Amino acid sequence: MVTVPDDMPPDTRFGAMLDNASRDNLNCFITLCSPKQHSREGRLRGAVFGIKDNLAVRGERMTCASRLLENYIAPYDATVVKRLKNSGALILGKTNMDEFACGSSGETSAFGPTRNPIFPGKVPGGSSSGSAASVAAGLVDAAIGSDTGGSVRCPAAFCGIEAFKPTYGRVSRHGLADMSMSLESPAPIVPAGSTALLAKIIDAISGYDEYDQTTYGAAGTECLRSLEDFSLSGARLSVPSNLVDLCSPGIRESFAFAVGKLRAAGAGIDELNLNSARTVLPAYYLTMYSEFASAMQRYDGLKFGYRGEGAGVGEVMKNSRSVLGAEVRRRILLGTYVTSVEGKSEWYEKAMNARAAIIEETAAVLSSCDLMILPTMPITPYPFGERLSDPLLMYATDVLTVLPNVCGLPAGCIPLGGGASLQLIGARNSDEKVVSAMKAFSGVLQNG
Ligand code: GLN
Repeated sequence: MVTVPDDMPPDTRFGAMLDNASRDNLNCFITLCSPKQHSREGRLRGAVFGIKDNLAVRGERMTCASRLLENYIAPYDATVVKRLKNSGALILGKTNMDEFACGSSGETSAFGPTRNPIFPGKVPGGSSSGSAASVAAGLVDAAIGSDTGGSVRCPAAFCGIEAFKPTYGRVSRHGLADMSMSLESPAPIVPAGSTALLAKIIDAISGYDEYDQTTYGAAGTECLRSLEDFSLSGARLSVPSNLVDLCSPGIRESFAFAVGKLRAAGAGIDELNLNSARTVLPAYYLTMYSEFASAMQRYDGLKFGYRGEGAGVGEVMKNSRSVLGAEVRRRILLGTYVTSVEGKSEWYEKAMNARAAIIEETAAVLSSCDLMILPTMPITPYPFGERLSDPLLMYATDVLTVLPNVCGLPAGCIPLGGGASLQLIGARNSDEKVVSAMKAFSGVLQNG
């Protein structure tokens, strides 16, 4: 890789970065894009981005890392992409991911796994694996992933960088092939120590969009403007100890070390037990299965993507879907079952009730403190193949990241070294506070 200086003219710099990306041996990209239709001005002028391949970039392939959409060309820009382009950002490529965002390791892509640039031989985390790996490798300045249950925070943790999942509805999902509509948000990933860039990206992509009725608010400068506002002195941080107890000894140790430094900087730490710790993972998976199965109905081989051979409609559908990978098929089957007449009261309705209780408990905790903090992942990056054949073992690694999605809350993460990461969760609409706390925490945690 050639070092590309920041102060080159944007077009020359983009060319040099494209050159580097074309020699990428981490399998970060599914498609490399040519520079076009970008604004020359704006708060992100010249910043080079990777975009997860489940977000539409007009005129480029959008595969969701699936054979089913291998040759699908997006006819329009996702709102997030449009806003980045309007802010002067340059799109370098469509990044690799777990197939249809189903995974936590970057191993289920139909285009092969993404490799971890920081911990060779270990998984990069997922599902936004290429977005995180390309940022960590310096192939792009920043990337956009999507986060349904941790998909930007998990790979950011495993690649030693920062990521942020906004409050649900703050960033438009228009043009995102979403996995689970009530849980998911497009979400930025930046290098370690780049909170100012993170704030600029959030400001550029946030706000009401007429194409997504869950969105609200004005796009603006709020995050950047409040970047210095968080003071650790007198801050009140809640630690859900029973979730921390689920982590490996190494993760618990680096988390305790970080908490010690935050306390030394003047923060008050309150430990508590979260009843939701027991129910949050099943509530997440049941909700996600149900919404995923429903979203995947559109891929019937008739309208989008690959069409299998067959005598009648049923056979065409079956053969078209047969190119889907095992994890995607598992989720469609489970989602169809848990929302069926036979399964609904036993599974889906219980999950909805559990979700309501989790939202209530979490909101109560957050109303009496500034932020909740906990590790991002319960383990450090692990070798390829270690968890892939055992879905429950894989799902278990999401136990700390799904809470903000189930509750629609903003959550960011910063690296602690060695593959460990600290997660910050804020109350609804407190995105500015979370981002400014990421900055304040990074300052304290890096100094000594
Ligand atoms: N790892 C989680 C899952 O497999 C989350 C995925 C995501 O956020 N897209 O469902």
